[in-house]
Amino acid sequence: MEPRDLSSHTVYQAGRGIEEVARELGLDPDDLVKLASNENPFGPSPAAVAAIEDAAGSAHSYPKASHADLTEKLADEWGVAPEQVWLGNGGDGVLDYLARAMLEPGDEVLVPEPGFAYYGMSARFHHGEVAEYHLSKDDDFALNSETVLSDYDGQRIVYLTSPHNPTGKRFELDAIEEIADETGDDALVLVDEAYGEFHDGPSAVELLETRDDVAVLRTFSKVYGLAGVRLGYGVVPEEWADAYARVNTPFAASEVACRAGLAALDDDDHAERTVETAAWSREYMYEDVDAHTWESHANFVLAEVGDAAGVADELQRRGIIVRDCTSFGLPECVRITCGTKDETRRAVSELNEVLSS
Ligand SMILES: *Cc1c(COP(=O)(O)O)cnc(C)c1O
Repeated sequence: MEPRDLSSHTVYQAGRGIEEVARELGLDPDDLVKLASNENPFGPSPAAVAAIEDAAGSAHSYPKASHADLTEKLADEWGVAPEQVWLGNGGDGVLDYLARAMLEPGDEVLVPEPGFAYYGMSARFHHGEVAEYHLSKDDDFALNSETVLSDYDGQRIVYLTSPHNPTGKRFELDAIEEIADETGDDALVLVDEAYGEFHDGPSAVELLETRDDVAVLRTFSKVYGLAGVRLGYGVVPEEWADAYARVNTPFAASEVACRAGLAALDDDDHAERTVETAAWSREYMYEDVDAHTWESHANFVLAEVGDAAGVADELQRRGIIVRDCTSFGLPECVRITCGTKDETRRAVSELNEVLSS
C-alpha cells in the first residue's frame, strides 16, 4: 500500500519558530526575536484574546451561529452578500476551496515565481498542474499586467499576490482588471490580499461589483495577529458563490476562530497600532539597513544581503530569526518582518554588524 504519486509535491517550509531555534541553540526563548513569518509583533488583538477565553466553554458545540455571524459581519463590511464570503481554516484553507471549486484533473494554474508556495501545492493536491510567471529582480520585481500575461497560456486560475510575498510590491487595480480582461473566459484571477491592510490602496473586492472572474483572499493571520487560530476568508463573485456549500469542509472555521475573528474586527486600536508600527518599521529598514531593500506595502521588507543562508544563520545565533529566501528562489535575500520599534532597531543593528563582518 502506498499513497498516490506525490513526487511532484513540495513540502511547505514555514519560517522557524522561537522554541525550535531556542532549543537548538540553547538560548532562552525570551531573548529571541522572531521576524520570520510576518506575524503580528503585538500578539493577538486583546479583544480577540478575551473572546477566545469566553468561547472555551462552548467548544463542545459546532460553530453554527458564530460561523454565520462572522460571515454576515464580513459581508456587511465589504458590501457583498453573505454567500460571497467563504470562511476557511486560514487563507490557505480558502485557497484549497477555490482550487476544489475550479479545477478539473489536469487543469493548469499560473503562479508567481518567486512567490507563495502554497498556491502550487494546493493546485497539485487538487490534481492540477502548475506553471509560473516570473518576477525579475532586474525589474525590481515589478507587478504589472505584462509580467503576468506574457506567461499566460490558458490557465484556469491565475494567482496574484498584492502586496506580494516576499517582495512587498503590489498591483494597481487597473493591472488586475487588464489581466482579468485578457485571460480566458473561464480563468479565475485570484487576488491574494493577505497583507491588504498594510497599505491604503483600494481592495480588488471593488472589481467584484462588475466582474465574475475575480476573487479576493484575506486573512486574520497578519494584521489581526491570529495566525495561531487559523482563520481566513475569500470574497467571491455572486454568480458562483453558492459553490462554497458544495466544496467546503463542514464548519470550515472553528467556534474559537470565529469568536476571535468577530472580536478582532471591532478592535480598531490594535489594527491601527499594527499598521502604523509596520509603516514606521519599513521606513526604518529602508533608511538604516546597510544593504539594498525594496519598497514594501506589507509588514516585511526584503533585503539583498549576499549569502542569505549564512546571514540568517549568524543572525539567529545573535537571537534574531529572519526568513532566508532561498526557498523562494532568492538565495541572496532575507525577508525581515516588521517588529515593534525595539525589535526592529535591534534586528537592524545586528544585521548591520553581520553584514560588516
Ligand atoms: C500569510 C499568507 C497567507 C495566508 O496565511 P493563513 O495563515 O493561511 O491565513 C496567504 N498568502 C500569503 C502570500 C501569505 O503570506
